Amino acid sequence: MKIIKVEPFILHVPITPPITDAINAATHWGLAGVRIFTDEGITGYGYTGTCAQGDDLITKTIEQYYAPILLGRDPFMVKELWDDMRFGKMHWIGRAGVTHMALAAVDIALWDIMAKAAGKPLWQYLGGHKSKKIKAYNTNGGWLNWSKERLLRDVGEIVEQGFTGVKIKVGKPDPHEDYDRVKAVRRLIGDQVIFMIDVNQQWNINTAMTWGKRLEEFDLFWLEEPLNPDDILGHKKLADALNVPIALGEHVYTKYAFRDYIHQGAVEYVQVDVTRVGGITEWLQVAGLAASYELPICPHVGDMGQIHQHLVASTSNAIMLEYIPWIRHIFVEPATVQDGHYMLPQMPGASTEIIPSCFEQYRIG
Ligand SMILES: [Mg+2]
Repeated sequence: MKIIKVEPFILHVPITPPITDAINAATHWGLAGVRIFTDEGITGYGYTGTCAQGDDLITKTIEQYYAPILLGRDPFMVKELWDDMRFGKMHWIGRAGVTHMALAAVDIALWDIMAKAAGKPLWQYLGGHKSKKIKAYNTNGGWLNWSKERLLRDVGEIVEQGFTGVKIKVGKPDPHEDYDRVKAVRRLIGDQVIFMIDVNQQWNINTAMTWGKRLEEFDLFWLEEPLNPDDILGHKKLADALNVPIALGEHVYTKYAFRDYIHQGAVEYVQVDVTRVGGITEWLQVAGLAASYELPICPHVGDMGQIHQHLVASTSNAIMLEYIPWIRHIFVEPATVQDGHYMLPQMPGASTEIIPSCFEQYRIG
């Protein structure tokens, strides 16, 4: 099989209503991606996720620097192609961020091609571990710009729908307000629903130490991204001092950075995101690394779960997957949750193929 065409794309899918966390505001979810065409008629789809900013830098990297490496090559040589892209002309100016997200989009499209060619959903192609369903937790009721009333209404509805895990955003200018919202949610959902909070890097070490301790009384399943994601030592101090496990990974871009976090005991739930590390090829390496430390993986869903459902289903130490249903309507086989569990995809590939009419409707580049 040979790659005959590499076509980058940008889609912007509206988020209704717009959301915020402690550092981001989003009106659209951006899919900066690529379609890779082969001489055997199989087309692979891959993408990374953004807050609809900077997508053009990602697709430009694919078009100008990765496509020339891919054309004429065999997609089944994905690991060799990955090395050629990673250590190619972009290595000098970018080994994380834009270039690594571009690499992720390409890598996902290549794995989509391989699984389609094998006639298997990706989770089986990778070697399945969970054959029926995956536990989901829901983040979509807990945005920071939600009033307390809306927060409680939405979290209540999520639990009524059958979810047994919920996450809310914290990181308000006054942490007393966070405390009040966390207390109200815990009172609403009772003690049987697992409950996570996400700071989105907003705290410094002193705030995190103080408020992390105060919030322990609410039996939190994890405390997510309390500090700057480059501050491994700070997270190590928190992990040692708090009785709430530390979760992070959505801004950790390489297996080397994960190695340092994991080896120092600075992360306790590994949230490696296939759209931020360099795709499935590197995600699997991080998963193996975490497994050797007996650490659980609960991916952050920059892909909104489409690809991660396959990865969790094929990884023994992946225990649960985030659920945010913003873009599921654009996919040929959308990620589907029933009674708080992802139902595993059955179509061949990585569940990344987009409905043609949606592809045209949301395409801006
Ligand atoms: Mg997060």
